[in-house]
Amino acid sequence: MTRVLVVGAGPTGLALALQAQASGATVRVIDRRPDAVRPSRAMMTHARTLEVLRPLGVVEALLEYADRSPTVQLHLHGRAVRVKIADLAVPDTAYPHLTLLPQAHVEAVLATALESRGVPVERGVELVGLTSAPRTAVRAQLRGAGETTATCDYLVGCDGADSKVRQAVGIGTTGADYDREIVQADVELEGGLGTDTAHVATTRAGLVFLFPHGDQATWRLMATRAVSGGSAGDTLSPREVRELLEAARLGTRVSRLAWSEVVPMRYRLADRYRDHRVFLAGDAAHVHSPAGGQGMNTGIQDAINLGWKLARAANASDPETLLDSYELERRPVARSTTAWTNLVFWGESGLDPLASLIRTVLLPVGAPLLLPAVLRRRRLLAAGFRILAQLRISYPNSPLSIDDGRPESLPIRVGDRLPDLPVTVADAGTRLQSLTASPGTHLLLLRDAPTPDPVASDGWTRVHRLQDRPGRGLIAVRPDGYVGFRTTESTSLHLHRWLNLTGAH
Ligand SMILES: Cc1cc2nc3c(=O)[nH]c(=O)nc-3n(C[C@H](O)[C@H](O)[C@H](O)COP(=O)(O)OP(=O)(O)OC[C@H]3O[C@@H](n4cnc5c(N)ncnc54)[C@H](O)[C@@H]3O)c2cc1C
Repeated sequence: MTRVLVVGAGPTGLALALQAQASGATVRVIDRRPDAVRPSRAMMTHARTLEVLRPLGVVEALLEYADRSPTVQLHLHGRAVRVKIADLAVPDTAYPHLTLLPQAHVEAVLATALESRGVPVERGVELVGLTSAPRTAVRAQLRGAGETTATCDYLVGCDGADSKVRQAVGIGTTGADYDREIVQADVELEGGLGTDTAHVATTRAGLVFLFPHGDQATWRLMATRAVSGGSAGDTLSPREVRELLEAARLGTRVSRLAWSEVVPMRYRLADRYRDHRVFLAGDAAHVHSPAGGQGMNTGIQDAINLGWKLARAANASDPETLLDSYELERRPVARSTTAWTNLVFWGESGLDPLASLIRTVLLPVGAPLLLPAVLRRRRLLAAGFRILAQLRISYPNSPLSIDDGRPESLPIRVGDRLPDLPVTVADAGTRLQSLTASPGTHLLLLRDAPTPDPVASDGWTRVHRLQDRPGRGLIAVRPDGYVGFRTTESTSLHLHRWLNLTGAH
């Protein structure tokens, strides 16, 4: 069995360990933090993240904690607009909603699932160095464990923005520091704000967010400000919190400050995601601003992309192509996310006169007029949601995407995610993502297609016949829910090339 050492038990490391284990690898997860629980940063878990986690059986537990129809009260320099985003016209996902779900809950659910599968996170164990070479196993130096070295077939650095793994293998980054920093606080408030809604206020210095989802008090306050010259780990004084709320003009005041932190902001992209048998994922590979809530979501999706490839590489006809496809597919996603989140972050928090003007004049005047019209345009809203929720990510140019012709009654492109369309299987109505909600490769045969031979030697590849879709073709769905292969004739020899390429035979 392939041995994978995951360094870091944040959302990326936990998802990676779950995916690699479900795909047949032996997994070990270490984290230098002695405690499992830490204050949340991410507040939003997007639809695509829920979709890719679904085969791992954790989504129900995640949604138990979630607010799926969040209401936001916008406070626009004296004008208030209430926005409820629900009932989105996105029929091809099981999760057509914004999902307010603090990161601490995501981590707790993933860690519990991992533990129940026999992989407890080893806490208080730090990676301090490693040796990586082309054909030999990786040797990691650890501190805090009983032993001081560990050997594995693959090591994945999910160890955050200051990744030790990245430094140890000499992978550089490009990017810059922002001139603004994020401040967060858990507070109790007096006066007027209902806890059934989140609040966002525009100020000259940026936006002030209040979520009724604090870890250590009712409210989580998040705001931006010019860099203060401090460092990570700094906290806010009660006076600073008071001033932020006064600038937001919310008519409320702090009665208790339970916790706070100052987070310096930067954007970075690793020059490479791989060094021989060592890989980077999540914040270790890319860091962006929190605008649009993309960081944790991108990290979890990196993990789901890489986990199965590590576990199945030993079965693949060309393991290097399979493993290299991780960077080819995921690095462009991080690059484009950085570009658009930079722009949004500028609008949210830029300190120059134009950004200030947008927040304090244009938005307060324009939003009350335009927002109701925008919210009524369901197709426009759905298109925006698809981008935010990462449903438009696609890998058409990946070496794992092979197009052998479009099956007549299933017009889904190679490289795209499998949409959650209704189908009939075994005389019952179901949906494509329910059908494929188990780890492994899934072959979707059209009604008249001969069963391809041979497949599914170890149960990894499952075959489903779609009775309501006429034709002789098939599509093959990867373990991370993307369409890797399609053909008009299920007996195509190219199917076996694809199965071999992805380690599915
Ligand atoms: C204010 C703020 C708000 C945000 N909001 C959102 C949002 O709404 N949506 C969203 O998607 N993202 C958001 N993000 C980003 C999100 O928090 C990160 O992208 C996410 O935490 C990255 O997860 P990760 O697992 O890759 O890394 P991390 O969460 O940084 O976890 C890394 C882990 O590695 C461990 N570690 C580090 N070094 C070592 C070592 N040498 N040995 C062993 N263990 C080690 C650490 O202890 C840690 O547990 C936000 C970020 C901030 C700052």
